[in-house]
Amino acid sequence: MSIQMFGLPVSRGVAIGRAVLVASSRVDVAHYYVEPSTVEAEIDRIRNARDTVAAELSALKRDLPAEAPHELAALLDVHLMLLHDATLADAIKHWIESRHYNAEWALSAQTEVLARQFDEMEDEYLRERKADIEQVAERMLRALAKDGPPSPLAAGGAARDFGGEDPLVLVANDIAPADMLQFKGSVFTGFVTDVGGKTSHTAIVARSMDIPAVVGAREASRLVRQDDWLIIDGDAGVVLVNPSPIVLEEYRFRQRQSELERARLDRLRHRPSVTLDGQAVELLANIELPGDSASALAAGAVGVGLFRTEFLFMNRGGELPDEDEQFEAYRRAVEAMNGLPVTIRTVDIGADKPLDRLTAHELKHEHALNPALGLRAIRWSLSEPAMFRQQLRAILRASAYGKVRLLVPMVAHRSEVRMTLEALTRAKQQLTDTGQPFNDVEVGAMIEIPAAALTMPALLKDFDFFSIGTNDLIQYTLAIDRADEAVAHLYDPWHPAVLRLIADVIAAGRSAGKPVSVCGEMAGDTEFTELLLAMGLRSFSMHPAQLPAVKQRILRADAARLEQNLGTALDSEQPAQGWRAMLDR
Ligand code: PEP
Ligand code: MG
Repeated sequence: MSIQMFGLPVSRGVAIGRAVLVASSRVDVAHYYVEPSTVEAEIDRIRNARDTVAAELSALKRDLPAEAPHELAALLDVHLMLLHDATLADAIKHWIESRHYNAEWALSAQTEVLARQFDEMEDEYLRERKADIEQVAERMLRALAKDGPPSPLAAGGAARDFGGEDPLVLVANDIAPADMLQFKGSVFTGFVTDVGGKTSHTAIVARSMDIPAVVGAREASRLVRQDDWLIIDGDAGVVLVNPSPIVLEEYRFRQRQSELERARLDRLRHRPSVTLDGQAVELLANIELPGDSASALAAGAVGVGLFRTEFLFMNRGGELPDEDEQFEAYRRAVEAMNGLPVTIRTVDIGADKPLDRLTAHELKHEHALNPALGLRAIRWSLSEPAMFRQQLRAILRASAYGKVRLLVPMVAHRSEVRMTLEALTRAKQQLTDTGQPFNDVEVGAMIEIPAAALTMPALLKDFDFFSIGTNDLIQYTLAIDRADEAVAHLYDPWHPAVLRLIADVIAAGRSAGKPVSVCGEMAGDTEFTELLLAMGLRSFSMHPAQLPAVKQRILRADAARLEQNLGTALDSEQPAQGWRAMLDR
């Protein structure tokens, strides 16, 4: 049966492939293809894991104290029975043999299939057996993890040549931003989640991967089944399940068209980004990991406008990266950019980018009541002064290898500014004392809290440059959680209050002669290119994949004419309509 679902379009393009359902708790399971020659070894890994778990369960049963309730022994029997179930074993083997999934992937794929079947059972007792299957799968996953290194990874693309011919798309209830990272360069060509907003960090990482994605599709992970054919329309926010051949053909056509369009835009890569009336516009890249610098350069970025360093702090299992590890990561990014500026933002941990539970526990960071308004970004850094100075030293040391700029997220209070600058002075002193080289770095503030936007005159005194984080500026101006799909329709970059704040910050920077950039998602959204130019913005920072399309708009823009018409948007009650009508004239 074909179904159509709607969500929020967060990463453009069309993906067509078979669904791989992943439970939120298991998104960190490795997904890769195994070589045909290692299929047998992979099946052996499953057998060994099963035997290990069987031994564990039998030992548990044997050692049960006499007074233990007899349900416990019965439960262990159920688990042992499931473990030895031939149909389960055959199904897992099938995923490995016919699709070349690695053992962990095959096991979790089959667990999902069974979990669905249990969910649909009428009988409540049987329905509850789903938990047993999941517990057995968890034990096997743990046994697989202990079993030593898995078979060598096969690169996603090459894998298709030996069996996994069908492209795959990922379907999950939710994916944490940190878990998204492991999908970079993975086998998936698109993804859908039930929850999430357009500028949630999960969506942001999807855009950085440049694969079509839809979030906030509510029931997707319940309605889609393992192996269903899916079309993910990342431009319209539509997901089609098991489409008819005619619909499939139509989307394949659109897929080809959008590939042609990309190839055409890619040819603009080396064209300087200058408006029709000769205004130069700086196009910078947003990156999450040092390795992303390569795609920044390939897209023609003239620097990195935002390096979100918090991704280095995620999934650490209780241990944060030390100064040297951070320094190596920053140095790699800086060296890769070959003398072009790299803007390194101090960690923005918190809100929808939490530390993993173990690390948070080690640091005694309790769960915040309202994480978006809690200990986030610079507030978090200032609450961990030693860790903060360590990061500052690592960033400063990287400045000896290229042009580094330091960016501070979520600034709002004078006391934060003062404490940040003091920490920086101290970090510099520590490096000087130990004879470690560093260069002068410019220090910038993210303008992403309305309080900061409204107090620019004070901030202008202390900072060398500014970067407007529109994702948070919208969230905090409109009191709309950027990651919550229930209020996503109210998350409106066109809101007059938002536009007024952005325009005022750009104007304040300009009149003081201090650079202002926008590094929130609005910078990479072509719907806003002309409007931001009209506001006087001459520096945009975005995911590398968005750069060519924005450049095309800039090449076709007349900045002077746009500036004259800015009032059409700023003074209007319906800025979007007025502005679009002006552009069409
Ligand atoms: C922003 O808020 O716009 C921004 C760029 O920072 P982040 O998305 O990482 O919060
Ligand atoms: Mg932000």
